[in-house]
Amino acid sequence: MACMRTPRSTTSPATGGDVFALIRAGLATTRTEIGNLTGLSRTAVAARVSSLQASGLVVEREEGVSTGGRPPVKLSFHVQAGVVLSAAIGRSRTQLAICDLAGDVIVAEDVEQEIGTSPAELMPVIARRLIALREGLGETAGRTVGIGISLPGTVDTERGCSLNSPMMSGWDGVPLQPFLADVTDAPVFVDNDANVMVLAERRGERRDFADMLLIKASTGLGAGLVSGGVLQRGALGAAGEIGHTKTAAAQGVVCRCGDVGCIEAVAGGWALVRNLQEQGREVTHIRDVITLALAGDAEARRMIRESGRQIGEVLSGAINLLNPEVVIVGGDMAQAYDTFVAGLRETLYGNAIAVATQQLQILPWTHGELSGVVGSATMALDHVLSVRAVDQLLARQK
Ligand SMILES: [Zn+2]
Repeated sequence: MACMRTPRSTTSPATGGDVFALIRAGLATTRTEIGNLTGLSRTAVAARVSSLQASGLVVEREEGVSTGGRPPVKLSFHVQAGVVLSAAIGRSRTQLAICDLAGDVIVAEDVEQEIGTSPAELMPVIARRLIALREGLGETAGRTVGIGISLPGTVDTERGCSLNSPMMSGWDGVPLQPFLADVTDAPVFVDNDANVMVLAERRGERRDFADMLLIKASTGLGAGLVSGGVLQRGALGAAGEIGHTKTAAAQGVVCRCGDVGCIEAVAGGWALVRNLQEQGREVTHIRDVITLALAGDAEARRMIRESGRQIGEVLSGAINLLNPEVVIVGGDMAQAYDTFVAGLRETLYGNAIAVATQQLQILPWTHGELSGVVGSATMALDHVLSVRAVDQLLARQK
């Protein structure tokens, strides 16, 4: 994924796609600014802008009150030029959304499903519901620019399928695009849930964070990493799979992956549920534990803080390796942010080297429960609105 702050190569003249990137990022709002930023002649700027206007991606609006003469006009990204569909698939719940081209949710809904539901059972439901949601808005297949899907576990982004998701049995190796053929001909993109969540954070005022680590602390644990402005997926897409890192605190404890000693087995949401159940408490999901903690339950609060402590221990190694500017806390445990982060800070600042934590910020996720669908939409948009994709679009309309 290209960093928006360096949208063009310095060796060749800026293309229509480059000009669009400047407008989309809000870096240029007039032809003069585009000329200054790209070095293009006035004629070349005018040609690219009119081609972008013809595509519908850029509009020109009169702004403010004129002080005599022509009223000032501003170029802007036309976020209503189409829609992007998104699905954040979880183990027991899938969230669906229709978003505008800025990635903002227009409408969203949840689909509850049985744990262990196969793609052949769930994907047709997702396809039908997405079509219904889109029709409800009066939108069409023709205005759909793409679909973004997120899944727990490691994802093969080339084939658009789960690669290794022990918690989603039956999904590994099954490409998801064919299930969505009735929804749209537009491209379908698939990635891991924590990866798309970190993309969701790099929007708006947080877009300038080039080095960001997101921890997703829910039933399971995962992380998403942006380094040098680029999402890091690793060699096989398994970057950020921290839930099954071995830790001393989990020694001898059996994990749901079948192994022993994973951080998830003591600090994951499912482990907290198990621990409270063993005390005779009636909880079935990490969200129940959060509800108890927010109501002041001392034991639930202690467990969430301890989970933060243990996760901080594992993360401190990543902080030393990567020196992020910010750690974003997301997932269900972010709903008890103060309690969780009190524990996280303790071990993160205690164990990581001083220079790496000196200016380290810890912040809550921005989009809360909608993070998965906003992130999935953002991922798809980063592809379909990339410099290259927009250049191809403009070439086709000639
Ligand atoms: Zn494990």
